[in-house]
Amino acid sequence: MDKKTIQTDVLIIGGGTAGCYAAITLAEQSDKEVLIAEKADIKRSGCLAAGVNALNAYIVSGNTPEDYLEYVKKDAEGLIREDLVLTMSERLNKVTKHLEEMGLVILKNKDGEYVTRGNRNIKINGENIKPILANQVYSYSNITVFNRVNIIDYIVADNQIIGAYGFHILKNTFYTIFAKTVICSTGGAAGIYKPNNPGLSRHKMWYPPFNTGAGYAMGIRSGAEMTTFEMRFIALRCKDTIAPTGTIAQGVSAPQINGAGELYDKQYGAPTTANRVYSTIEENKQGRGPCFLKTEGIGEKAEEELLKAYLNMAPAQTLKWLERGKGPNHENVEIEGTEPYIVGGHTASGYWVDTGRQTTIKGLYAAGDVAGGCPQKYVTGSLAEGEIAALSALRYIEETTFKTIYKEEQQEYERTGFEAVNKFLHHPEGIYTVFQLEEAMQKVMDEYAGGISGNYGYNQSRLVIAESRIRELRELALRLHAKDCYDLMKIYELLDRLLVAEAVIVHLEARKETRWHSFQENLDFQEKDEAYFLYINSIRKNERFEIIKRAFVGRGVVYEHTH
Ligand SMILES: Cc1cc2nc3c(=O)[nH]c(=O)nc-3n(C[C@H](O)[C@H](O)[C@H](O)COP(=O)(O)OP(=O)(O)OC[C@H]3O[C@@H](n4cnc5c(N)ncnc54)[C@H](O)[C@@H]3O)c2cc1C
Repeated sequence: MDKKTIQTDVLIIGGGTAGCYAAITLAEQSDKEVLIAEKADIKRSGCLAAGVNALNAYIVSGNTPEDYLEYVKKDAEGLIREDLVLTMSERLNKVTKHLEEMGLVILKNKDGEYVTRGNRNIKINGENIKPILANQVYSYSNITVFNRVNIIDYIVADNQIIGAYGFHILKNTFYTIFAKTVICSTGGAAGIYKPNNPGLSRHKMWYPPFNTGAGYAMGIRSGAEMTTFEMRFIALRCKDTIAPTGTIAQGVSAPQINGAGELYDKQYGAPTTANRVYSTIEENKQGRGPCFLKTEGIGEKAEEELLKAYLNMAPAQTLKWLERGKGPNHENVEIEGTEPYIVGGHTASGYWVDTGRQTTIKGLYAAGDVAGGCPQKYVTGSLAEGEIAALSALRYIEETTFKTIYKEEQQEYERTGFEAVNKFLHHPEGIYTVFQLEEAMQKVMDEYAGGISGNYGYNQSRLVIAESRIRELRELALRLHAKDCYDLMKIYELLDRLLVAEAVIVHLEARKETRWHSFQENLDFQEKDEAYFLYINSIRKNERFEIIKRAFVGRGVVYEHTH
């Protein structure tokens, strides 16, 4: 393998929604050298790869950022970081305007106002949203993009970030990248639990299968404090195609009904995101499934709109309707819950950050789905966090006196980073493959840590088994053989997922209540307990997670780390 060493001012890991926007902000506000390292290609990577048809977080006319905060708070049973949600909400409309100026088509009514969908969404022609962001990135001369570079670990000295390691997936090159500051924007984690679909369809999942929790895992390995991994996200989706349901539920006001045609969601408390899944699970458990979105009779025009809308973001659903020869106007749409994901743009799991999105590692920032405490970010919230992180990182560069890294020290970093990776290329071929260990991990998580097969419930006895099995699988994964850099990437993806899985188990165990039905369904403690109105955080030390309980952080506060 070739070895290369790079120096930059700002390293952005993950050129998705938040990462691209952080780079754009840095380029617009400074002449700092910015490097984006992206494991895929920024033109079509991450959550926006296939396009989206709405911006889910927008302050519509008559509403305020405080209203958005209230909505997020209610949806998460109160337990969010208000400082983070408010600072994000305040930027939602500004970043939307910026996206429009970059070329995104946002639908407008005859008065020139954005067309809204519900209270907080606006409609877009979003198939090309990612190429628009990528083109903007490429328009700045001080941004360099490394596509197909998979970042695997941070370089940290005395709890201060100084760079990261990675390798080119196709070119067989190992990179040691030194940076004054790093922004992590690698998205959330899919593929931890056994998915809905088997075999070759297993990647037909809600979240990008290539977002494997690398950012979380790198933070955990480096001793960063993480938060709320127990608040998993389970999407309510169209059966089998795993296409979004919001476009139907809100777009044509289709309610949830059970197999007998009865409306059911109102019987299960407030219509929060978690309760919409929970109510569907309960109806099925009680023998009243399957459940549907009631679309029969919506009319030909509404049906055509849905066929078009799904072509933009989940073509499999449109194809399913066409293949069956029956669209939603003639047949209700069956719904199901997906496997759990860890995703800080929808729930509150991720890095424990200060108000400026700095993690507990000095000079390391987190934005988008990888950052915790701030649910319901979606596209615009991730852009907003990219901006906040970028501005904080710039201030950090201005205010910090950086230690010189001398040649010998640099060579030592290069050597240790390379050796950690190179050993996989020299391991003898073993009896297990990455795929087999990944399947085993997903089965363990499904059966012992609250997956689909157990209706998302778990108890202490099961978690104990889950933790020991996941640790055993990790030992096996550490002995895997890679024949090239593609194999190496697969091994790191597995190792990252296993570490995130362990964090999830430890967090699930620590919250001795049920705060978010289905998302965190503790069968030993089935009620909400106000003694647990606090954040469950963790730091990994000596290969074990230590739990830290942190008190609520309200709005208007500028939260700073105390260590
Ligand atoms: C299917 C789906 C539909 C959605 N629909 C909507 C919608 O209609 N409206 C809305 O507002 N929101 C929607 N969202 C949510 C929104 O898209 C996300 O919250 C947001 O885009 C997340 O941005 P991010 O930057 O955190 O992650 P991403 O945009 O996913 O970026 C993460 C990037 O990191 C890269 N990466 C990962 N690991 C590594 C590594 N080790 N090294 C280098 N690079 C790495 C990935 O390849 C990716 O490019 C949807 C999400 C999904 C999954």
